Amino acid sequence: MTQRIAVLGATGSIGDSTLAILATHLEDYEVYALSGHHRLDKLLALCQQFSPKRVCVPLESVDTFAKRLDAADLDIDVVGGDAGLIDIATDTQVDTVVAAIVGAAGLPSTLAAARAGKRILLANKEALVMAGQVMIEAVKTHKATLLPIDSEHNAIFQCLPSIIQQDNTQIHDRCHGVRKLWLTASGGPFLQQSFAQMQQAGVAEAVKHPNWSMGQKISVDSATMMNKGLELIEACHLFDLPEDKIKVVIHPQSIIHSMVEYSDGSFLAQLGSPDMKTPIAHALSYPQRINSGSQPLDLYALSGLEFIKPDLQKFACLRLAREAMKAGTQATIVLNAANEIAVAAFLAGKVRLTDIADINEQALTQVQVSTLTANADIDDILEIDKIARLYTDTIIAKMV
Ligand code: NAD
Ligand code: MG
Repeated sequence: MTQRIAVLGATGSIGDSTLAILATHLEDYEVYALSGHHRLDKLLALCQQFSPKRVCVPLESVDTFAKRLDAADLDIDVVGGDAGLIDIATDTQVDTVVAAIVGAAGLPSTLAAARAGKRILLANKEALVMAGQVMIEAVKTHKATLLPIDSEHNAIFQCLPSIIQQDNTQIHDRCHGVRKLWLTASGGPFLQQSFAQMQQAGVAEAVKHPNWSMGQKISVDSATMMNKGLELIEACHLFDLPEDKIKVVIHPQSIIHSMVEYSDGSFLAQLGSPDMKTPIAHALSYPQRINSGSQPLDLYALSGLEFIKPDLQKFACLRLAREAMKAGTQATIVLNAANEIAVAAFLAGKVRLTDIADINEQALTQVQVSTLTANADIDDILEIDKIARLYTDTIIAKMV
Protein backbone atom coordinates (compact mmCIF):
# COMPACT_ATOMS: atom_id res chain seq x y z
CA MET A 1 0.00 0.00 0.00
CA THR A 2 1.19 3.52 -0.75
CA GLN A 3 2.62 5.33 2.26
CA ARG A 4 1.38 8.93 2.42
CA ILE A 5 4.14 11.27 3.49
CA ALA A 6 4.20 14.79 4.91
CA VAL A 7 7.63 16.42 4.66
CA LEU A 8 7.83 19.25 7.20
CA GLY A 9 10.88 21.34 6.33
CA ALA A 10 10.76 20.27 2.68
CA THR A 11 12.90 23.17 1.44
CA GLY A 12 15.89 22.31 3.64
CA SER A 13 18.79 19.94 3.30
CA ILE A 14 16.98 16.93 4.86
CA GLY A 15 13.92 17.87 2.80
CA ASP A 16 16.09 17.73 -0.36
CA SER A 17 17.46 14.29 0.46
CA THR A 18 14.03 12.93 1.40
CA LEU A 19 12.36 14.20 -1.76
CA ALA A 20 15.23 12.92 -3.92
CA ILE A 21 14.51 9.41 -2.60
CA LEU A 22 10.73 9.77 -2.86
CA ALA A 23 11.03 10.97 -6.48
CA THR A 24 12.45 7.58 -7.42
CA HIS A 25 9.84 5.53 -5.51
CA LEU A 26 6.55 7.23 -6.32
CA GLU A 27 4.84 3.87 -6.81
CA ASP A 28 5.23 3.16 -3.06
CA TYR A 29 5.13 6.64 -1.52
CA GLU A 30 2.81 9.58 -2.08
CA VAL A 31 4.08 13.08 -1.29
CA TYR A 32 0.87 14.19 0.42
CA ALA A 33 2.01 17.43 2.10
CA LEU A 34 4.99 19.77 2.17
CA SER A 35 6.05 22.73 4.30
CA GLY A 36 8.60 25.50 3.88
CA HIS A 37 9.39 28.66 5.77
CA HIS A 38 11.95 30.41 3.59
CA ARG A 39 12.70 29.97 -0.11
CA LEU A 40 9.09 29.79 -1.17
CA ASP A 41 10.14 29.76 -4.84
CA LYS A 42 11.70 26.42 -4.15
CA LEU A 43 8.55 25.26 -2.37
CA LEU A 44 6.49 26.26 -5.41
CA ALA A 45 8.80 24.24 -7.67
CA LEU A 46 8.37 21.24 -5.34
CA CYS A 47 4.58 21.68 -5.54
CA GLN A 48 4.87 21.60 -9.34
CA GLN A 49 7.04 18.49 -9.21
CA PHE A 50 5.09 16.46 -6.63
CA SER A 51 1.52 17.90 -6.72
CA PRO A 52 0.93 17.40 -2.98
CA LYS A 53 -2.62 17.75 -1.63
CA ARG A 54 -1.59 20.24 1.07
CA VAL A 55 1.17 22.76 1.71
CA CYS A 56 2.13 24.89 4.71
CA VAL A 57 3.86 28.28 4.50
CA PRO A 58 4.38 31.12 7.03
CA LEU A 59 1.04 32.65 8.04
CA GLU A 60 1.74 35.95 6.29
CA SER A 61 2.46 34.16 3.00
CA VAL A 62 -0.71 32.05 2.78
CA ASP A 63 -2.65 34.37 0.45
CA THR A 64 0.17 35.16 -1.96
CA PHE A 65 1.28 31.54 -2.09
CA ALA A 66 -2.30 30.39 -2.81
CA LYS A 67 -2.44 32.88 -5.70
CA ARG A 68 0.86 31.61 -7.08
CA LEU A 69 -0.46 28.04 -6.96
CA ASP A 70 -3.63 29.15 -8.75
CA ALA A 71 -1.59 30.87 -11.42
CA ALA A 72 0.37 27.64 -11.88
CA ASP A 73 -2.94 25.75 -12.19
CA LEU A 74 -2.29 23.72 -9.05
CA ASP A 75 -5.17 22.77 -6.77
CA ILE A 76 -3.42 22.50 -3.39
CA ASP A 77 -4.81 23.35 0.05
CA VAL A 78 -2.63 26.06 1.63
CA VAL A 79 -2.35 26.39 5.41
CA GLY A 80 -0.10 28.61 7.49
CA GLY A 81 2.06 28.93 10.60
CA ASP A 82 2.34 26.58 13.56
CA ALA A 83 -1.37 25.70 13.42
CA GLY A 84 -0.97 24.76 9.76
CA LEU A 85 2.02 22.53 10.52
CA ILE A 86 0.06 20.80 13.28
CA ASP A 87 -2.94 20.43 10.99
CA ILE A 88 -0.78 18.65 8.41
CA ALA A 89 1.11 16.56 10.99
CA THR A 90 -2.18 15.23 12.36
CA ASP A 91 -4.07 14.90 9.05
CA THR A 92 -5.84 11.52 9.07
CA GLN A 93 -4.65 10.93 5.50
CA VAL A 94 -0.99 11.14 6.52
CA ASP A 95 0.85 7.95 7.50
CA THR A 96 4.38 9.29 7.90
CA VAL A 97 5.66 12.67 9.04
CA VAL A 98 9.23 13.58 8.16
CA ALA A 99 10.16 16.02 10.95
CA ALA A 100 12.85 18.06 9.18
CA ILE A 101 12.24 21.59 10.48
CA VAL A 102 15.32 23.04 12.17
CA GLY A 103 15.31 24.05 15.83
CA ALA A 104 12.60 24.62 18.42
CA ALA A 105 10.22 25.62 15.61
CA GLY A 106 9.83 21.92 14.83
CA LEU A 107 8.68 20.87 18.30
CA PRO A 108 4.91 21.56 18.21
CA SER A 109 4.31 19.73 14.92
CA THR A 110 6.59 16.81 15.82
CA LEU A 111 4.81 16.37 19.15
CA ALA A 112 1.43 16.66 17.45
CA ALA A 113 2.46 13.90 15.02
CA ALA A 114 3.38 11.69 17.99
CA ARG A 115 0.03 12.37 19.65
CA ALA A 116 -1.74 11.51 16.41
CA GLY A 117 0.03 8.13 16.42
CA LYS A 118 1.98 8.75 13.22
CA ARG A 119 5.11 7.11 11.96
CA ILE A 120 7.69 9.86 12.56
CA LEU A 121 11.00 10.08 10.76
CA LEU A 122 12.88 12.34 13.14
CA ALA A 123 15.59 14.70 11.93
CA ASN A 124 14.55 17.57 14.23
CA LYS A 125 16.79 16.57 17.16
CA GLU A 126 15.98 19.81 18.99
CA ALA A 127 12.46 18.46 19.65
CA LEU A 128 13.94 15.66 21.77
CA VAL A 129 16.50 17.94 23.43
CA MET A 130 13.67 20.21 24.58
CA ALA A 131 10.92 17.72 25.25
CA GLY A 132 12.42 14.23 25.25
CA GLN A 133 10.25 12.82 28.03
CA VAL A 134 7.03 14.38 26.75
CA MET A 135 7.78 13.18 23.22
CA ILE A 136 8.64 9.60 24.21
CA GLU A 137 5.59 9.44 26.48
CA ALA A 138 3.38 10.64 23.61
CA VAL A 139 4.90 8.05 21.26
CA LYS A 140 4.14 5.26 23.72
CA THR A 141 0.66 6.42 24.72
CA HIS A 142 -0.52 7.01 21.16
CA LYS A 143 1.32 4.06 19.63
CA ALA A 144 3.30 6.25 17.28
CA THR A 145 6.52 4.96 15.69
CA LEU A 146 9.66 7.04 16.11
CA LEU A 147 12.45 6.27 13.65
CA PRO A 148 15.63 8.35 13.87
CA ILE A 149 17.12 9.69 10.65
CA ASP A 150 19.94 11.56 12.31
CA SER A 151 22.71 9.37 10.88
CA GLU A 152 24.28 8.42 14.24
CA HIS A 153 21.00 7.42 15.86
CA ASN A 154 19.89 5.63 12.77
CA ALA A 155 23.19 3.70 12.81
CA ILE A 156 22.70 2.76 16.47
CA PHE A 157 19.10 1.75 15.78
CA GLN A 158 20.31 -0.53 12.99
CA CYS A 159 22.92 -2.12 15.32
CA LEU A 160 20.44 -2.88 18.13
CA PRO A 161 18.57 -6.19 18.44
CA SER A 162 15.17 -6.13 16.73
CA ILE A 163 13.35 -6.54 20.06
CA ILE A 164 14.80 -3.20 21.16
CA GLN A 165 14.07 -1.61 17.79
CA GLN A 166 10.43 -2.42 18.40
CA ASP A 167 10.38 -1.26 22.03
CA ASN A 168 13.20 1.00 23.09
CA THR A 169 12.42 0.76 26.81
CA GLN A 170 13.77 -2.80 26.69
CA ILE A 171 17.32 -1.52 26.51
CA HIS A 172 16.96 0.13 29.90
CA ASP A 173 15.08 -2.61 31.71
CA ARG A 174 16.60 -5.72 30.21
CA CYS A 175 19.87 -4.40 28.77
CA HIS A 176 20.26 -7.21 26.17
CA GLY A 177 23.98 -7.08 26.65
CA VAL A 178 24.25 -3.45 25.52
CA ARG A 179 27.18 -1.96 27.42
CA LYS A 180 27.59 1.42 25.71
CA LEU A 181 26.55 3.40 22.68
CA TRP A 182 29.31 5.15 20.72
CA LEU A 183 28.39 8.28 18.80
CA THR A 184 30.91 9.09 16.11
CA ALA A 185 31.68 12.72 15.29
CA SER A 186 33.62 14.13 12.35
CA GLY A 187 35.19 16.80 14.56
CA GLY A 188 34.04 19.46 12.07
CA PRO A 189 36.17 21.89 10.06
CA PHE A 190 38.37 22.95 13.02
CA LEU A 191 39.53 19.56 14.21
CA GLN A 192 43.11 20.17 13.06
CA GLN A 193 43.15 23.86 13.97
CA SER A 194 44.02 25.57 17.24
CA PHE A 195 41.49 27.29 19.48
CA ALA A 196 43.04 30.62 18.43
CA GLN A 197 42.41 29.83 14.75
CA MET A 198 38.88 28.76 15.57
CA GLN A 199 38.37 32.08 17.35
CA GLN A 200 39.13 33.98 14.13
CA ALA A 201 36.91 31.83 11.89
CA GLY A 202 34.34 33.55 9.72
CA VAL A 203 30.92 32.19 8.79
CA ALA A 204 32.07 30.72 5.45
CA GLU A 205 34.80 28.63 7.14
CA ALA A 206 32.52 27.54 9.97
CA VAL A 207 29.75 26.23 7.74
CA LYS A 208 32.15 24.43 5.38
CA HIS A 209 31.82 20.91 6.73
CA PRO A 210 34.49 18.43 5.58
CA ASN A 211 32.14 15.49 4.92
CA TRP A 212 28.47 16.51 5.02
CA SER A 213 26.45 19.18 3.24
CA MET A 214 23.81 20.50 5.67
CA GLY A 215 21.74 23.52 6.70
CA GLN A 216 23.52 26.52 8.27
CA LYS A 217 22.51 25.97 11.90
CA ILE A 218 23.59 22.34 12.10
CA SER A 219 26.81 23.21 10.22
CA VAL A 220 27.73 25.77 12.89
CA ASP A 221 26.72 23.24 15.56
CA SER A 222 29.11 20.75 13.96
CA ALA A 223 31.94 23.30 14.03
CA THR A 224 31.47 23.85 17.80
CA MET A 225 30.57 20.17 18.37
CA MET A 226 27.31 21.35 19.93
CA ASN A 227 25.73 19.08 17.34
CA LYS A 228 27.29 16.08 19.08
CA GLY A 229 26.12 17.45 22.41
CA LEU A 230 22.56 17.72 21.13
CA GLU A 231 22.90 14.22 19.70
CA LEU A 232 24.07 12.89 23.06
CA ILE A 233 20.86 14.21 24.65
CA GLU A 234 18.84 12.91 21.69
CA ALA A 235 20.36 9.43 22.18
CA CYS A 236 19.58 9.39 25.92
CA HIS A 237 15.89 9.92 25.13
CA LEU A 238 15.66 7.73 22.05
CA PHE A 239 17.37 4.76 23.63
CA ASP A 240 16.32 5.37 27.25
CA LEU A 241 19.86 5.41 28.64
CA PRO A 242 21.73 7.70 31.07
CA GLU A 243 24.41 9.97 29.60
CA ASP A 244 27.28 7.96 31.07
CA LYS A 245 26.32 5.01 28.84
CA ILE A 246 26.86 7.13 25.76
CA LYS A 247 30.38 7.86 24.57
CA VAL A 248 31.55 10.22 21.86
CA VAL A 249 34.51 9.48 19.62
CA ILE A 250 35.87 11.62 16.80
CA HIS A 251 36.13 9.68 13.56
CA PRO A 252 37.16 12.22 10.92
CA GLN A 253 36.35 10.03 7.90
CA SER A 254 32.58 9.81 8.74
CA ILE A 255 32.40 6.25 7.42
CA ILE A 256 31.29 4.55 10.64
CA HIS A 257 28.11 6.39 11.59
CA SER A 258 27.99 5.08 15.19
CA MET A 259 28.36 1.86 17.17
CA VAL A 260 26.84 -0.32 19.87
CA GLU A 261 29.23 -1.95 22.33
CA TYR A 262 28.04 -5.26 23.82
CA SER A 263 29.06 -6.97 27.05
CA ASP A 264 30.84 -9.80 25.21
CA GLY A 265 33.28 -7.30 23.70
CA SER A 266 31.53 -7.01 20.32
CA PHE A 267 31.21 -3.60 18.73
CA LEU A 268 28.53 -3.45 16.01
CA ALA A 269 28.90 -0.57 13.59
CA GLN A 270 26.96 0.76 10.62
CA LEU A 271 29.10 1.98 7.74
CA GLY A 272 28.24 3.90 4.61
CA SER A 273 29.10 6.93 2.50
CA PRO A 274 28.36 10.17 4.34
CA ASP A 275 25.02 10.75 2.65
CA MET A 276 21.79 11.40 4.55
CA LYS A 277 19.85 9.54 1.87
CA THR A 278 20.95 6.24 3.47
CA PRO A 279 19.44 6.76 6.96
CA ILE A 280 16.37 8.45 5.46
CA ALA A 281 15.76 5.55 3.04
CA HIS A 282 16.28 3.10 5.90
CA ALA A 283 13.62 4.79 8.02
CA LEU A 284 11.22 5.30 5.11
CA SER A 285 11.21 1.62 4.22
CA TYR A 286 11.91 0.01 7.64
CA PRO A 287 11.76 -2.95 8.14
CA GLN A 288 12.28 -3.36 4.37
CA ARG A 289 15.15 -1.83 2.39
CA ILE A 290 14.96 0.38 -0.69
CA ASN A 291 17.53 1.90 -3.01
CA SER A 292 18.50 5.28 -1.54
CA GLY A 293 20.46 6.54 -4.53
CA SER A 294 23.55 7.15 -2.39
CA GLN A 295 26.97 6.14 -3.70
CA PRO A 296 27.99 2.74 -2.35
CA LEU A 297 31.00 2.88 -0.08
CA ASP A 298 34.22 2.04 -1.92
CA LEU A 299 36.11 0.03 0.69
CA TYR A 300 39.18 -0.33 -1.57
CA ALA A 301 39.47 3.46 -1.72
CA LEU A 302 39.51 3.89 2.07
CA SER A 303 43.01 4.54 3.35
CA GLY A 304 42.27 4.28 7.05
CA LEU A 305 39.82 4.92 9.81
CA GLU A 306 40.88 7.06 12.76
CA PHE A 307 39.37 7.39 16.24
CA ILE A 308 40.25 10.33 18.51
CA LYS A 309 39.09 11.34 21.99
CA PRO A 310 37.36 14.75 21.85
CA ASP A 311 39.12 17.74 23.45
CA LEU A 312 36.47 19.11 25.83
CA GLN A 313 38.31 22.38 26.37
CA LYS A 314 38.35 23.24 22.70
CA PHE A 315 34.83 21.87 22.22
CA ALA A 316 33.25 23.04 25.47
CA CYS A 317 29.72 22.73 24.03
CA LEU A 318 30.04 18.96 24.24
CA ARG A 319 30.87 19.19 27.95
CA LEU A 320 27.93 21.58 28.49
CA ALA A 321 25.50 19.15 26.86
CA ARG A 322 26.59 16.35 29.18
CA GLU A 323 26.23 18.64 32.20
CA ALA A 324 22.79 19.80 31.04
CA MET A 325 21.62 16.22 30.54
CA LYS A 326 22.71 15.38 34.08
CA ALA A 327 21.00 18.50 35.45
CA GLY A 328 17.59 17.76 33.89
CA THR A 329 15.12 18.84 31.23
CA GLN A 330 15.00 22.52 32.16
CA ALA A 331 18.76 22.69 31.59
CA THR A 332 18.58 21.02 28.17
CA ILE A 333 15.80 23.44 27.15
CA VAL A 334 17.92 26.42 28.25
CA LEU A 335 21.01 25.07 26.46
CA ASN A 336 19.10 24.48 23.24
CA ALA A 337 17.49 27.94 23.31
CA ALA A 338 20.74 29.74 24.17
CA ASN A 339 22.54 27.87 21.42
CA GLU A 340 19.95 28.77 18.77
CA ILE A 341 20.27 32.46 19.71
CA ALA A 342 24.07 32.29 19.88
CA VAL A 343 24.35 30.55 16.49
CA ALA A 344 22.06 33.16 14.92
CA ALA A 345 24.24 35.91 16.43
CA PHE A 346 27.36 34.26 14.99
CA LEU A 347 25.74 33.91 11.54
CA ALA A 348 24.80 37.61 11.76
CA GLY A 349 28.44 38.51 12.46
CA LYS A 350 27.74 39.75 16.00
CA VAL A 351 29.83 37.25 17.99
CA ARG A 352 32.79 34.94 17.35
CA LEU A 353 32.41 31.21 16.83
CA THR A 354 34.14 30.48 20.12
CA ASP A 355 31.79 32.87 21.95
CA ILE A 356 28.96 30.40 21.36
CA ALA A 357 30.19 28.06 24.11
CA ASP A 358 30.68 31.01 26.52
CA ILE A 359 27.18 32.30 25.83
CA ASN A 360 25.71 28.83 26.30
CA GLU A 361 27.59 28.35 29.56
CA GLN A 362 26.49 31.72 30.92
CA ALA A 363 22.88 30.94 30.03
CA LEU A 364 23.09 27.50 31.66
CA THR A 365 24.48 28.87 34.90
CA GLN A 366 22.47 32.11 35.07
CA VAL A 367 18.98 31.57 33.64
CA GLN A 368 16.55 31.14 36.54
CA VAL A 369 13.75 28.75 35.78
CA SER A 370 11.71 26.52 38.00
CA THR A 371 12.21 22.76 37.85
CA LEU A 372 9.73 21.05 35.55
CA THR A 373 7.28 18.77 37.27
CA ALA A 374 6.61 15.22 36.08
CA ASN A 375 3.40 16.29 34.33
CA ALA A 376 4.92 19.32 32.59
CA ASP A 377 3.61 19.88 29.08
CA ILE A 378 4.63 21.74 25.97
CA ASP A 379 3.47 25.15 27.29
CA ASP A 380 5.77 24.82 30.32
CA ILE A 381 8.61 23.84 27.99
CA LEU A 382 7.98 26.73 25.60
CA GLU A 383 7.86 29.14 28.56
CA ILE A 384 11.36 28.09 29.68
CA ASP A 385 12.52 28.30 26.06
CA LYS A 386 11.20 31.88 25.86
CA ILE A 387 12.83 32.98 29.13
CA ALA A 388 16.16 31.46 28.03
CA ARG A 389 16.03 33.20 24.64
CA LEU A 390 15.35 36.60 26.22
CA TYR A 391 18.13 36.11 28.75
CA THR A 392 20.57 35.02 26.03
CA ASP A 393 19.77 38.19 24.08
CA THR A 394 20.91 40.21 27.11
CA ILE A 395 24.14 38.17 27.41
CA ILE A 396 24.90 38.89 23.75
CA ALA A 397 23.96 42.57 24.06
CA LYS A 398 26.63 42.91 26.77
CA MET A 399 29.25 41.29 24.55
CA VAL A 400 28.84 43.34 21.38
P1 NAD B 1 17.80 23.53 6.80
O1 NAD B 1 18.09 24.85 7.39
O2 NAD B 1 18.47 23.14 5.53
O3 NAD B 1 16.22 23.35 6.59
C1 NAD B 1 15.33 23.66 7.62
C2 NAD B 1 13.88 23.56 7.14
O4 NAD B 1 13.06 24.06 8.21
C3 NAD B 1 13.55 24.42 5.92
O5 NAD B 1 12.58 23.78 5.15
C4 NAD B 1 12.98 25.71 6.53
O6 NAD B 1 12.12 26.40 5.65
C5 NAD B 1 12.24 25.14 7.72
N1 NAD B 1 12.12 26.13 8.80
C6 NAD B 1 13.10 26.92 9.31
N2 NAD B 1 12.60 27.72 10.28
C7 NAD B 1 11.28 27.43 10.38
C8 NAD B 1 10.21 27.92 11.20
N3 NAD B 1 10.41 28.91 12.09
N4 NAD B 1 8.98 27.38 11.03
C9 NAD B 1 8.77 26.41 10.13
N5 NAD B 1 9.73 25.90 9.32
C10 NAD B 1 10.97 26.40 9.45
O7 NAD B 1 18.13 22.45 7.95
P2 NAD B 1 18.56 20.92 7.78
O8 NAD B 1 20.03 20.82 7.69
O9 NAD B 1 17.71 20.25 6.74
O10 NAD B 1 18.18 20.36 9.22
C11 NAD B 1 16.84 20.10 9.61
C12 NAD B 1 16.84 19.31 10.91
O11 NAD B 1 17.46 18.05 10.66
C13 NAD B 1 17.66 19.96 12.03
O12 NAD B 1 17.03 19.72 13.25
C14 NAD B 1 18.99 19.25 11.96
O13 NAD B 1 19.64 19.21 13.21
C15 NAD B 1 18.56 17.85 11.54
N6 NAD B 1 19.59 17.09 10.84
C16 NAD B 1 20.09 17.54 9.67
C17 NAD B 1 21.07 16.82 9.01
C18 NAD B 1 21.63 17.28 7.69
O14 NAD B 1 22.44 16.57 7.10
N7 NAD B 1 21.22 18.39 7.15
C19 NAD B 1 21.56 15.63 9.58
C20 NAD B 1 21.01 15.19 10.77
C21 NAD B 1 20.01 15.92 11.40
MG1 MG C 1 23.98 13.57 13.12
